[in-house]
Amino acid sequence: MNPLSTIFLRGLRFVRNNPQIIYTLFLVVMIPGAFFFTSEQFLKVARENQDQLERNRIGMLQDVFVLFAREHINDVDYLHERILSITTENETIARFQILKKNAANEFVVMTSKDSSDLGGSFVPDPASAVLFISATGDPAHSYAAKFFIDGVRYWRSVRAITAAETMQPIAYVVTDVSMAEADAVALKNIRSAYIVLGFIIIFVIILLARQARIIDYATLYQKLKEVDQMKDDFVSMAAHELRSPLSIIRGYTEMLTESEKLSPSGETNLKHIDDAAVHLNHLIGDILDVAKLQEGRMTFRFEARDVSNDIKEVMDSFVRVAFDKGLALLYEKKTLPFISVDPDRFHQVMINLIGNAIKYTPAGEVHVTASSEKESLVIRVSDTGMGISAENQQKLFQKFYRVKSAETEEITGTGLGLWITSQMVKTMHGDIAVESIKGKGTDFILRFPIVKETPTQ
Ligand code: ADP
Repeated sequence: MNPLSTIFLRGLRFVRNNPQIIYTLFLVVMIPGAFFFTSEQFLKVARENQDQLERNRIGMLQDVFVLFAREHINDVDYLHERILSITTENETIARFQILKKNAANEFVVMTSKDSSDLGGSFVPDPASAVLFISATGDPAHSYAAKFFIDGVRYWRSVRAITAAETMQPIAYVVTDVSMAEADAVALKNIRSAYIVLGFIIIFVIILLARQARIIDYATLYQKLKEVDQMKDDFVSMAAHELRSPLSIIRGYTEMLTESEKLSPSGETNLKHIDDAAVHLNHLIGDILDVAKLQEGRMTFRFEARDVSNDIKEVMDSFVRVAFDKGLALLYEKKTLPFISVDPDRFHQVMINLIGNAIKYTPAGEVHVTASSEKESLVIRVSDTGMGISAENQQKLFQKFYRVKSAETEEITGTGLGLWITSQMVKTMHGDIAVESIKGKGTDFILRFPIVKETPTQ
């Protein structure tokens, strides 16, 4: 392969691997290109308008001039004076002459802005010759053409002066108007436009340099998301796979506990194994729930129900744990209005909140109340535990957030329970809030919309 095609192929591959280059090139070329195109168009139109105005002005000037030039055609001094007064007022007029044809059919300068031209002959170039022919054929109008002298643009206008009786051309007015001033203004504008264009290009390049970084960040973010997804997939797969060996461990621990051949120290050791297995089981359960909630795979079977029994069941399941810690568990069961929840998920929510209340309360009581407020059922899980500072309350419902303090150091947990709880409550159209005073206790407040009032008995 020849070196040129190798370079081309390499370039192509580079562009394919860095698609942001196309975008960059597009912006670098397109924005200044568009600006260049519009400014050129604008200047072209402005120049055309300026030319048109100038031609009209000279045409009108010639119209007026020929009227009295016809009457004073033999008064050369008077005409010269008039020409001088007109050209002094109109500085852009470079030539203002009256030409007459002599016997040899040559144009002779009869009077002129420049006295030095007087009596001299005027030899029109081909383009000007056309103007004279047109003005002869149509003496009622001026004819103009554009030409350049030493890089300066001029508009030359020719108009015939006709004899009053015959209406035949007897002389010609020739006017050259310099466009140097108008062009200088246009050039100045073009220059300023290009300076602005230069700044725009610099600005676009700076913007693109940043933009390229943003695109890199976006690609990086995409990759990170993919890695994060892979991590989530792996964690949930690993958690799943851990379940079976864990249930085998728990099964055998149970069998060993039931066999009476264990020494007291063996029993203690076995208790440690069982505690660790229970903890691991919780952890796996939480991880699997997080994965399910994040991927929207957690199913909810909604049911309108009075949850007083559900609360009672959960409270009862904690009697032993609370008793071991010396805590009072208080709940006064009463008929409640119906709310629409998934009973299993509602159980899980209550287990998390009551479990936490017991876990983070060294002494005192855990009190659960439920009552209707306006159109909601409000369930309050209150404890007299360690409480949570205002700062920590804000982060409480974040994934993996655990309050770090000397009091919580010894307490095991994953920091996932409250996140899972809040997600479940939200999915069940409820709301969760916390009220707490550090060192005094904590209230977790659940609010669910009432779907049906309890029928009065
Ligand atoms: P964990 O597994 O750590 O208990 P949670 O998400 O359930 O995770 O709770 C997050 C943190 O909130 C806990 O680590 C604890 O510091 C704090 N917390 C939760 N409930 C209470 C409570 N009733 N009293 C005091 N702190 C609590």
